[in-house]
Amino acid sequence: MNIIIFGPPGAGKGTQAKKMVDFYGIPQISTGDILRANVREGTELGLAAKEYMDKGELVPDEVLIGIIKNRLKEKDCEKGFILDGYPRTIPQADALATILDEINKPIDVVLNLEVPDEELVERVSGRLMCGNCGASYHRTFNPPRKEGICDVCGGELFQRDDDKEEAVKNRLTVYKRQTQPLIDYYAKKSLLVSLDGTKGIDEVFEDIKAILAKFA
Ligand SMILES: [Zn+2]
Repeated sequence: MNIIIFGPPGAGKGTQAKKMVDFYGIPQISTGDILRANVREGTELGLAAKEYMDKGELVPDEVLIGIIKNRLKEKDCEKGFILDGYPRTIPQADALATILDEINKPIDVVLNLEVPDEELVERVSGRLMCGNCGASYHRTFNPPRKEGICDVCGGELFQRDDDKEEAVKNRLTVYKRQTQPLIDYYAKKSLLVSLDGTKGIDEVFEDIKAILAKFA
């Protein structure tokens, strides 16, 4: 089963991807991770990518797609893969369709986790982290026993700048602007399946399993 997953910040995309990895034994392919791995290992494409990264520029699509193609040809992708964070643009989606065609691994389904903005803002802006041990909490859903103090180590809890309400709203705006054209693109190809991400983690995963049953 060859899957793309979309979801705004706070929708639980990472959690669900991890559950799919564990349950189906297929890898989650994040472009950031494979890019860094190629740079580290000094592959030809990794070195090409590094030249742009060192200059603080975006890695061009043709380099990125080459890295993705090589990754998807690896043995652990035989049963399928979950693409996360890619494609981000229509040209990338077209390039992806072309290489998947070449390696005969067409996308089976595009999962789209949906959660209303107000709930995403509540989820993300309530996150707290321990500055000492990195444990995470949530003001409403998983509060520490003593306000502002880590249960584990007694360290002080803080909120990441990225998680502050205004920042979350901005991230959602950027996400939508970037992702909506892709949602429409895959809907037109009849590959898109939207999921109610307001349900509990296990319920959402049951929905995913029901959708993926026909590709297993
Ligand atoms: Zn702590």
